[in-house]
Amino acid sequence: MPRKVFTSKVYEHKVVLVTGGCSGIGRALVLRFAQAGARLVIFDLQQTELDSLLQLVRDQHNVEALGLCCDVADPLAVQQAVAQVLEQFGGIDVLVNNAGISHRSSFAETELGVFERVMAVNYFGALHCTKAALESLITRRGQIIVLSSLSVYAPLLYRSAYNASKHALHGLFETLRYELNGSGVNVMLVCPGFTATDLRKNALVGSVTLANQPPLAMRKLASARDVAESIYRGAIKRKSLLVLDNVDWRARLLARYFPRLFERVLLPRMSRLKARRP
Ligand code: NAD
Repeated sequence: MPRKVFTSKVYEHKVVLVTGGCSGIGRALVLRFAQAGARLVIFDLQQTELDSLLQLVRDQHNVEALGLCCDVADPLAVQQAVAQVLEQFGGIDVLVNNAGISHRSSFAETELGVFERVMAVNYFGALHCTKAALESLITRRGQIIVLSSLSVYAPLLYRSAYNASKHALHGLFETLRYELNGSGVNVMLVCPGFTATDLRKNALVGSVTLANQPPLAMRKLASARDVAESIYRGAIKRKSLLVLDNVDWRARLLARYFPRLFERVLLPRMSRLKARRP
């Protein structure tokens, strides 16, 4: 049965920049905002993937779109890419800090380079993009949307660097939200649960090479499209925090109030990995 499409004119002709927009949740957000009539900018790593997505966006939704090859971990590359966006589009209304990577390795087996790369992309990537776009976002009373994770409520095993990077995002953007009080800029932190994307496939292992793990069973995962729809609706309401339906409330509750029970029972199950002591 075709789904009902929620229509709103809030983002018509607005400039929406999505980092990591070529895959998973980012790609679904690009398509959702394009459907809403926004002008799209995508930062990602591969030009060929950018080109095919831009073609799709223009063909399906007839909106203006720009794709730039930009590693968000590189502050200079981000500055240059944002300058190009400002020149071509005149400003940025919505910045979606979505680009992210994960890893699968115990703390003991994780090399420093993995911690550095995960923080560089997940935390500093969001910081660089926000710094570069902030003036324009303030001028336009815009929005900053940040992809966090369920892992800030209930830690995931063998993803210490990933969990740390998501906690760091909360520290940064909750402070920024207060500092921007009265400026008209909305800062929304989004915590999705497990979602069917390439995040797991692209995860690093202990020594910065790709893990290439098979995707999780689909029935246990939300679709990127549903997650994007929830984020889109949360953005319209200019929420501060959006915890998505696919974050298990029992896990949140147990982790907060019964941490031992959570560690023994739910943590290994949630992490989809056999519990083992390093
Ligand atoms: P994904 O791997 O499908 O997509 C990530 C995108 O980011 C890819 O297009 C990738 O090329 C891009 N990217 C990676 N490093 C980059 C860099 N340095 N510069 C620019 N682009 C870069 O993953 P996803 O699941 O769609 O993840 C999107 C966000 O959602 C991430 O921040 C992730 O932590 C978060 N999230 C995902 C899940 C999940 O279960 N998939 C759950 C909670 C939160």
